[in-house]
Amino acid sequence: MRISHPSTLAEAEALIATGAQAVVGGTGHQFRWSQGQTRPEHLVNIDPLLPNGINDLTIGAGTSLEDIRHAGLPLLSQACGDVGAPNIRRLATLGGNIGFGAGCLIPALLALDAQLGTTLGPRPLIDHLRDPKGLILSVTLRPLARSIWRKVGLRAAFSPAMIVSAGTFSTEDTRITDLRLSLGGGAVLPQRLSEVETWLMGQVLTQVDPADLEARIIAAVNAPSCAFRSVSYRKRVAAKAISHGLLGLGRKTLRPKTLRPSPTPPPALTAVSRQDGGERWHTRPDMPAKVRGALPYLTDVRAPGMLVGRILRAAHPHAEILRIDTRRAEALPGVHAVVTHRDITGLNGFGIVFQDQPALCADKVRYTGDPVAAVAAIDAQVAEAALALIEVDYAPLPVVTDPEMALMPSATRVHDNGNLVSEITHAKGDLTEGWAKAVHVIEDTYVTPRQMHGFMETEGGWAAPDGPQNDGILVCAGGQHGARDRLQLSRILDMPKEKIRVISSPTGGAFGGKDELTVQPVLALLARKSGRAVRLHLSRAESVQAGTKRNPMRIRMKTGCDATGRLVAQEVDVLSDCGAYASLSPGVLETAMEHAAGPYVIENIQTRGRLAYTNNGTCGAFRGFGANQMSYAIECQMDRLAAKAGLDPIKIRRLNMRVSGSPGYLGQRVALSERLLEMLDAASSSPLWNAREANPDEIIGTGMALNYQGNGLGTLPEDEAEFALRLKGGKIEALCGLDEMGQGLIASLHAETSTRLGVARDDIRAVFGDTGTAPDSGSTTASRGGYVVWRGIKETAPAFETELLSQAGAKLGLPPAELRLVPGGIGARGANTPTPLLRFDAMADSATFTTQFSFPKSDYTKGNARFIFAFAATLARVAVNRVSGQVRTLDLEMHTAAGPVIDMASYLGQMEGGLIQGLGFTLTEDVLMQNGRPVTTNFDSYMMPTVRDVPNTMRITALEELDPGDPHGPRGAGELGIGAVTPAIANAVFDAIGCWPVVTPFAPESLLDVIAFSEAKAQT
Ligand SMILES: Cc1cc2nc3c(=O)[nH]c(=O)nc-3n(C[C@H](O)[C@H](O)[C@H](O)COP(=O)(O)OP(=O)(O)OC[C@H]3O[C@@H](n4cnc5c(N)ncnc54)[C@H](O)[C@@H]3O)c2cc1C
Repeated sequence: MRISHPSTLAEAEALIATGAQAVVGGTGHQFRWSQGQTRPEHLVNIDPLLPNGINDLTIGAGTSLEDIRHAGLPLLSQACGDVGAPNIRRLATLGGNIGFGAGCLIPALLALDAQLGTTLGPRPLIDHLRDPKGLILSVTLRPLARSIWRKVGLRAAFSPAMIVSAGTFSTEDTRITDLRLSLGGGAVLPQRLSEVETWLMGQVLTQVDPADLEARIIAAVNAPSCAFRSVSYRKRVAAKAISHGLLGLGRKTLRPKTLRPSPTPPPALTAVSRQDGGERWHTRPDMPAKVRGALPYLTDVRAPGMLVGRILRAAHPHAEILRIDTRRAEALPGVHAVVTHRDITGLNGFGIVFQDQPALCADKVRYTGDPVAAVAAIDAQVAEAALALIEVDYAPLPVVTDPEMALMPSATRVHDNGNLVSEITHAKGDLTEGWAKAVHVIEDTYVTPRQMHGFMETEGGWAAPDGPQNDGILVCAGGQHGARDRLQLSRILDMPKEKIRVISSPTGGAFGGKDELTVQPVLALLARKSGRAVRLHLSRAESVQAGTKRNPMRIRMKTGCDATGRLVAQEVDVLSDCGAYASLSPGVLETAMEHAAGPYVIENIQTRGRLAYTNNGTCGAFRGFGANQMSYAIECQMDRLAAKAGLDPIKIRRLNMRVSGSPGYLGQRVALSERLLEMLDAASSSPLWNAREANPDEIIGTGMALNYQGNGLGTLPEDEAEFALRLKGGKIEALCGLDEMGQGLIASLHAETSTRLGVARDDIRAVFGDTGTAPDSGSTTASRGGYVVWRGIKETAPAFETELLSQAGAKLGLPPAELRLVPGGIGARGANTPTPLLRFDAMADSATFTTQFSFPKSDYTKGNARFIFAFAATLARVAVNRVSGQVRTLDLEMHTAAGPVIDMASYLGQMEGGLIQGLGFTLTEDVLMQNGRPVTTNFDSYMMPTVRDVPNTMRITALEELDPGDPHGPRGAGELGIGAVTPAIANAVFDAIGCWPVVTPFAPESLLDVIAFSEAKAQT
């Protein structure tokens, strides 16, 4: 791309006449490129040539939107505040927003009857929009007395526009004397609502019928549908926005729908926050480098001579491969290796549960992310050119997109053995008897989304030949269990495990999405074939296409209680989309089914869960692992039954609560220390139950939900761990093969080791995430990490401490019994001040002390069952918007019972992070698929919560105490946070508007219907 810097506007226009494009802030261009539009070859920088600044109501076209935002201009300043984020607004200009064509400001400018100063002379904006000619130099506004503005996007903030509504008007008394109404934004073409304006002119505001006005606007709006929002939604939102802006919505009072609980004071809870943490609050050791962006991920590694890898992915979601010809790619200068299935000497299959996923496809592709071939070349351009030269002939097959249809006998088979991946059933009691006792019954189907992990660092890393004869391989790619990745690679490469070293940390986020192999097989194959180091990093679009997602589920749940609210029967039928390969989806379904009754006792139960192959991407592990999907269903059922039985949400839960020490849901033995009643007490006493002042746009509601989360892999899979301690180079090394992926492993190792040994956090060095240096501690999944760290240190510390004291004793000439570990070294036992007599850095390296142990398991073997659980109550206060139907989470409160907190900052991060990730699951996130292809390729249409969507307050507490006689330490913190936020929000939405959303993410369109219905009912 060439950029010219002309010195006059005439020069600029001459260049533009040859096909070059003007650029000022460049943000509009960047937006288009992110949408896949081709980049212009020639840009002309006109920024220095444009007037910049605001003179009364005339604004230079080169003025930044951030400057206009602070200029106090009627309407336009407000509108600028809704464009992008501050860093975009500082670059973006007013002229660029008009030139961009889809700018959010255009409706505001139309309503302000903007006149443009252009290189062709003055022109009304409306004329310029019809026939864009010349460069815009200035914009002059003609405001009226009052204004209307509303941008409605895909989420609350920093969101692409679904529709923008604007207006200006003047009145005398309350009669409309002048008026301009307009729409536009994003895919909606800018328009003035001239017919509506004519109808309104001269009318008295108080006499305008809002329903009539809205109907006229709806008839006048010209807007498209898209995969995310319907045309009817866009029209209704525009109608409501303008009607509201003009007439006001009035403060219609919808009374809270949920009975308020009587508060029961909870026990003393630890407030988990920086403010309340006191001496327990420590900055995480990895935090400063991460905040500065200075910590290199494995995808950031560069070395001289390193090749660049690229993957050719399937051209169809489902097809037979007839032929793969790589000869032209191999012949391209700069290409060092091209690999296909023909290069796989071992098993061409991987998968944690069963190995049904090819490392490189041989005869069939089953989703568009399937890798068919890969290339290593001297740079990205050559690698991409080589991919284009690989010829693949396909015979497309019918695409299986719906799990229900996938299980029909006539369905096309995704795998030869059929589309049913697994089926799990469970029954207890007598269901017929149960239903006979039921007085209140709720039956509904809860639908959950294909959530994307959305980690900061997409899948990638590097690999190189390794070992003395270069006959081994080093694979460095963010993961969640290096030892298991090594096992899977040894099968694929047909190479002994000992010759493979996997480095899997640090990882820029995983959340389950890097539990399965991602790029490791291709990296290893390319490095082995080329004999060189090769790096590979998926673009966001490729990550969306190829990466694992959360399994969408349809959960049909029928639950009955007697007249007092006691649960008597439940039937659950779950159908889950597996996508093209099993990965950990069978485990996800097992976990979901194990949490089907929540923490409640139901005498009569029948459940069935089925998992179906489709061509919809791949699914598998994701924080919550099926338990959060199930909590959504059961916790809404509880509130719905409470409403029927005339109980408050706390009473019905208290009535049906499990008793600590009783068998688990599947009848298995479970650990003590459940502390659910204390969680309920804390929830009952929450200030969030009190009403909060709402603005007229919003209806406020409060809801709560409980959850519990099984820890560890369960009874059936192996769940072993190894841990080691040693003194090396003056530091105590805690060696643990878990991975640091943002959750706080390093902080936990520092915290737990230093506390147990009585030394300083700084005395500890964490060694982790590398099969070459750390032991196999099992996977960093299933909320097992905290326990593994605690248990590993507890078991290893005594022998290690004895060795250090005896070494120090010999050196100091003192009996070891008179010594102890103190911060920095070895001190005298009994001394008042913990001053080291011998510093660690003056001691010799110790031996390595290793322990092995199993994660605690139940004795149940009929299915997979957990032994240890963590518990929580989550409360949400939400505001449902009467114009857009969108839900804003105002406050979140979470009370947790997960045993002792190892490191407060990490614990808080896990809970808050889980809650916010849960907000996305609940309100905005879903990878929509169309005929086996993802609709979105980027975060501009996949709406993860941003900082602006985070609630005003988040309060986290911890009940750290365990039951007397409970020998197990900290429970897992990783998944607890996400577990109950969805039902808490759903229950809060009911409290606000009187209906439980049963599809996540909640559709604003459906909520608008409910609001209309509830408001109409409230008026009668
Ligand atoms: C992450 C992100 C978020 C965004 N969010 C929003 C949003 O919420 N709402 C929104 O409206 N936009 C959004 N945009 C798009 C863009 O930021 C704005 O439209 C911005 O105002 C463009 O200004 P610019 O100076 O950067 O234009 P540029 O990118 O420099 O130019 C945009 C177009 O306008 C033409 N142009 C520029 N100046 C002139 C001129 N003086 N006369 C004639 N033609 C001209 C250019 O040739 C080009 O075609 C976003 C972009 C990004 C990258």
